[in-house]
Amino acid sequence: MTTFDALGLDARLVQATDALGYKNPTPIQEQAIPVLLSGTKDLVGLAQTGTGKTAAFGLPLLHLIDEKQKFPQALVVCPTRELCLQIVNEMEQFKQFIPGMFVAAVYGGTSIGQQIRELKRGVQIVVATPGRLIDLIERKAINLEEIKYVVLDEADEMLNMGFKEDIEFILQNTPNRGATWLFSATMPPEIKRVSKRYMKEPFEITVGKVNTANKNIDHQYYITSAQYRYQALKRLIDFNPGIYGIIFTRTKADAQDIAEKLTREGYDIDALHGDLTQQQRDKVMGEFREKTLQLLIATDVAARGIDVKDITHVINYELPDDVEVYTHRSGRTGRAGNTGICMSIIHARETGKMRQIQSIVQSPFHKLEIPSGKDVCRKQFYHFMDKLLQTDISHGGYETYVPMLEEKFADITKEEILKRLAAMEFDRFLKYYENAEDLNVREIKRGERGERPNDRGRFERGGERGGDGRRDTRGRTFGGGGDYARLFVNLGTKDGFYKASFLQFILDMSDLRKEVLGRIDMKEMNSWIEIDKGAAQQMIRAIDGKNYRGRKIRMNDADSRR
Ligand code: AMP
Repeated sequence: MTTFDALGLDARLVQATDALGYKNPTPIQEQAIPVLLSGTKDLVGLAQTGTGKTAAFGLPLLHLIDEKQKFPQALVVCPTRELCLQIVNEMEQFKQFIPGMFVAAVYGGTSIGQQIRELKRGVQIVVATPGRLIDLIERKAINLEEIKYVVLDEADEMLNMGFKEDIEFILQNTPNRGATWLFSATMPPEIKRVSKRYMKEPFEITVGKVNTANKNIDHQYYITSAQYRYQALKRLIDFNPGIYGIIFTRTKADAQDIAEKLTREGYDIDALHGDLTQQQRDKVMGEFREKTLQLLIATDVAARGIDVKDITHVINYELPDDVEVYTHRSGRTGRAGNTGICMSIIHARETGKMRQIQSIVQSPFHKLEIPSGKDVCRKQFYHFMDKLLQTDISHGGYETYVPMLEEKFADITKEEILKRLAAMEFDRFLKYYENAEDLNVREIKRGERGERPNDRGRFERGGERGGDGRRDTRGRTFGGGGDYARLFVNLGTKDGFYKASFLQFILDMSDLRKEVLGRIDMKEMNSWIEIDKGAAQQMIRAIDGKNYRGRKIRMNDADSRR
């Protein structure tokens, strides 16, 4: 096995890896470090967090940079404040034996003045989130003239978050860049384009498979109907008493709403979403890191870059709109060699989407039954017994209480004491789950309609709402007549949409309100949209001919095509 010493790193850096307890380089470090030490080679590293990629670029940067020159020579750009702080923290440890080397963190949501003062002190490495960095460039508070190395970390997440222009701006404004190193968990076409445009024949390293989720993650899914989603979530939490997890929702409102409901029901949970101030966000993250909070509920954007160790479970309250986001979500668990579980609560109609995700993740997915009330109680019971047996009684001088306890419980048997203890712990679960329903729904095969459990826990045919689905929410009947036009569009579920995201997409593009829409009928390749006749042309004008993921959108009046 290779050692850090053999990779050609400065002795002070080898000393740091020793001090950190790193015995051998991880695969990405072993492959990248010797190449990057040349200082002239571009690199594309396809690797997820947890592979040791921070050291894979951090150690070569520290090796190459001249600590005697007191100006920025390297720039590391990453998507979030959390990741930024985490990188700086690791760099601080790597550089512990190099006096005179300084690393600055530059991120939004905090005083820019403080950061400007720090930059003025003469730092050699700047780790930045794109927005704040651009701000500093525009204020001429940072000089990129002498930047020799640019690292783009979690490039796919930065693009997902809409930082494409910012990244290009940064690359265009580092004229003396000698090498660019790009790290990404996935390889969407935009990243390929950026690397082609701004990098010279990059050396490519793939750790694990591209677009592959960590093999230490067990992927599970549970099928229920929309109305039981919240109960299913509770059951999954209750069935995993030692859970330390992140729950993902698609909207801020859901994150907030579920956090409030679960808090009222006695769970240690808080929400992380875009509406929080930096201070509130720090508070929630602090509590979660300290495990005062057992659960965090977050939207995708708010959770980006979060690096919390030992997450046991990720729960998808709903599947993400974009199937690739699944990889980012599930990657929050199963890190640094630990195992983790990623659970998705899905609707029977989403099994196709689940298969799509599975083909990206390239790991087996397990369809599991939502535990019954009895299962939950049994599991809690075992957990309680284990907890009781593991309780540490070596401190606290409990012996002194023994005579008092013996006297108090003199007339009660050991059996009864145990029963009482169990009752204290369990009453909440036993009561809640006494008449618990079966929340499972049978998987829909191709061509079938939705099925849901009826009140007696058996299955009956019919969609979620309105039974035969022939009426919209305002009670109008469908069929193309009346005041509606019917539009055809060549986008469908194959494009990664499902109804809610598709609706949002067409409304955002056309700047129209939801009320103008009637029934939306989505197929794999095409969709049909009912829309108020007066609004149809506006939608066609806004959407027809535009591009979606490199493909030209075609939209027209469906009925005039016949
Ligand atoms: P990263 O992928 O950079 O986020 O690293 C994941 C974790 O692995 C961090 O906590 C690092 O400190 C740790 N790590 C990185 N390289 C090594 C190594 N060679 N040996 C042991 N742990 C490492």
